[in-house]
Parts: sequence; C-alpha cells; structure tokens
Amino acid sequence: MKIPITRPLLGIEEADAAHKTILSGWVTQGPKVAEFEEDFAEYVGSKYAVAVSNCTTALHLAMIVAGIKSGDEVICPSMSYIATANCITYVGAKPIFAEVNEDFNLDIEDVKNRINSKTKAILLVHQMGMPADIDAFQAICKEKNIILIEDAACAIGSVYKGKRIGSHSDLVCFSFHPRKIITTGDGGMITTSNEKFNERLKILRKHAMSISDHERHSCNEIIFEDHLEIGYNYRLTDIQAAVGIEQLKKIGSIIEERRKISFKYLNSFNDIECIRLPLEKNGYESNYQSFSIYLKENAPIQRNDVMRKLLEKGISSRRGIMTAHQETAYNFMDIQLPISEDLRDNSILIPLYNEMTIDEINYTIRETRKLLLYPKK
Ligand SMILES: *Cc1c(COP(=O)(O)O)cnc(C)c1O
Repeated sequence: MKIPITRPLLGIEEADAAHKTILSGWVTQGPKVAEFEEDFAEYVGSKYAVAVSNCTTALHLAMIVAGIKSGDEVICPSMSYIATANCITYVGAKPIFAEVNEDFNLDIEDVKNRINSKTKAILLVHQMGMPADIDAFQAICKEKNIILIEDAACAIGSVYKGKRIGSHSDLVCFSFHPRKIITTGDGGMITTSNEKFNERLKILRKHAMSISDHERHSCNEIIFEDHLEIGYNYRLTDIQAAVGIEQLKKIGSIIEERRKISFKYLNSFNDIECIRLPLEKNGYESNYQSFSIYLKENAPIQRNDVMRKLLEKGISSRRGIMTAHQETAYNFMDIQLPISEDLRDNSILIPLYNEMTIDEINYTIRETRKLLLYPKK
C-alpha cells in the first residue's frame, strides 16, 4: 500500500469549469473572480472578499492596508509556515516571534509580554485549521490600540464560537494551495467587513489601476486608466476562480469527511499514553487541515524513526509545523522558543485526505499504533 500525506479533491466539475472559462475568451481576473469572491464572502460570513494570487500575497496586502511600515513590529508565532513571518518582513517591519501553546496557536501571555510602543499588529495563525482564541486577542488589540490580522491559510470552514473564521475581524487571509482544504492550484483570499480595506485591497492587487481590465473591455467609450499608487500584480485568474467556485460547492462534504477521519484517528489513538492529540475546545471546530500527533518524552521511539518506519510501510508523514526562527532566513535573530522548538522536533503529521479508503485509514492506524505501543528499550 502507498498512502500519500494528502491529495486534493478535484473532479470533472472543476475541469469543466476551467475548460469553459478558457473557451470563454476571458481568462484573467474578471467575472469569475467576482463570482468566487461573492460566494466566498457569503460562505464565511464577511461583507467582502478579495481574491489574490496566494495567501502570501494576501498577507502582504493585509500588512500594507493595516499601515504596517518600516520600523514597526508585528507579533506572530515562529511556529508557522515561513510566509507568516515573511509578509511582515516584506513591508520593512520586524516579526517578533512569540511562543505557542500545546495546540500550536499563539500563547496570549507571551504575546502580552512582547507588546511595546513599536508593536503595530498581532498576526494570529489558526494552525492546521484549529481556531485560536480570536476574542481574547481582539480584546488585547483593542486595549493596546493595535490591529489584529488573521493568517487563516489553513482554516477555511473552521468555526470559532458559532461563526466561521473570516467573519470575526477585518483582515483575514486564506490559502487555496493544494495542501489546504480547497484548492485553485495556487490562490488566496482576504475577507473583510471594512469598506475602505476592501476598496484599497482591490486596487492594490491590480497595479493600483483606477479601473479594471474588465471594465475597460466592457466600456463603449474610450477610457484611460490612472495608477493611483505603487501597486502589485497579485491577481487570481478567472480560470482559477472557476475552479474555486466548484471547490466551494463541495466544501461542506470535504470538511465533514475530514472530521470523520480525524475522529476515527482520535478514537483509535486515545489509549496511547505517550502521545498528545488535537483537542477541540468548547465552541471550536477544526476543519482538520492536518492531523498532528505529538510524541511526549516517554515515547518509546523518536519522531524521525516513526517517520522512517511509516515510510517503509508505504505511509507518508511530515514533520509537524516548522519554526521560522530556526530556518536559515531568520536564524540571525538568535532567539530561543523552547516550547515551539519542542513541538517542531517531536510532532508528526499523518495522512488525511478526502476519499481516503477505509483500508488506508485502518492500515495507517494499525501501523502507527504498532510503533507507538512498542515497548521502551
Ligand atoms: C500555507 C500557508 C501560508 C502560505 O499560503 P500560500 O497560499 O502558499 O502562499 C501562509 N501561512 C500559513 C499558516 C500557511 O499554512
């Protein structure tokens, strides 16, 4: 048996939609992007949604409209995909890495200790789709007069206190990379209920051009565009948006199935004493973008040996989440975050994807259990 870590759920509907869009003659950002944005805003419960080329560019634009500049500081977890930190660096600001809790999400007490007069924002990640405590971070931001930005790359469809991620604050960034819940190949979205943010984001993503390609194309008179500021080409294409529209129609069943597989994992591993498993707090619902297992100190086997032995059995796995401060790009900072480092070194992600067969699930459970229950030498 050969079991991948993940596999996107793409079918004939997505292929047909891309096909039709290609033949329509309009392939860059146009009517399909507008439709995808409307559907996405409705799905998460925000007033507006702005489609961009990926979540990294979404985060970059979020930093710009939040007014983050050179010399500013933004607090974020080091324990995240490195794009979280990079988007802060792009605008000349400094990422201030804070610790996370056992759930891989920011530790609010540690964040509080790192706030100073240079702090302009907190970049809150919902790691692997598990919601962070948005209300608590919003309260701090309000108190300190700083802005909250959410990196919800992995958290499409996750629920915090009865509402989907994307509806709680004014700059929430999502990813449609194939490792996430729904995909457009590459792609990103920013949701907001702030009209000014919506307008500026939509300008910035298309070279800050005063009118869109589609408007000019549809106009009966000659019109000339102006470029209002230094903008970016961060457009999503209509081909990608057409795929996204189809993916969004399936998201309910995609998440339902991911949760079902995750609950099976949770039930099958909950008697293993040497590990820690994901835990949904009351009012929190994860989309289970990934399923992580943390190996405690008393585990009979090292994390890398688990990964190696699973691979020998044809089961792919991944190390848990990386820490940006231990990557070459950021190690000049020379900081230590013991909890994040420990989680990085002792976590493993196991296969989880839609249409994973019952045989694949049971085989993964059986082989993983064998390794973790193996008596300590
Ligand atoms: C995947 C990911 C990103 C980057 O998303 P892209 O769409 O690939 O740019 C950013 N932040 C987090 C937390 C991610 O998991």
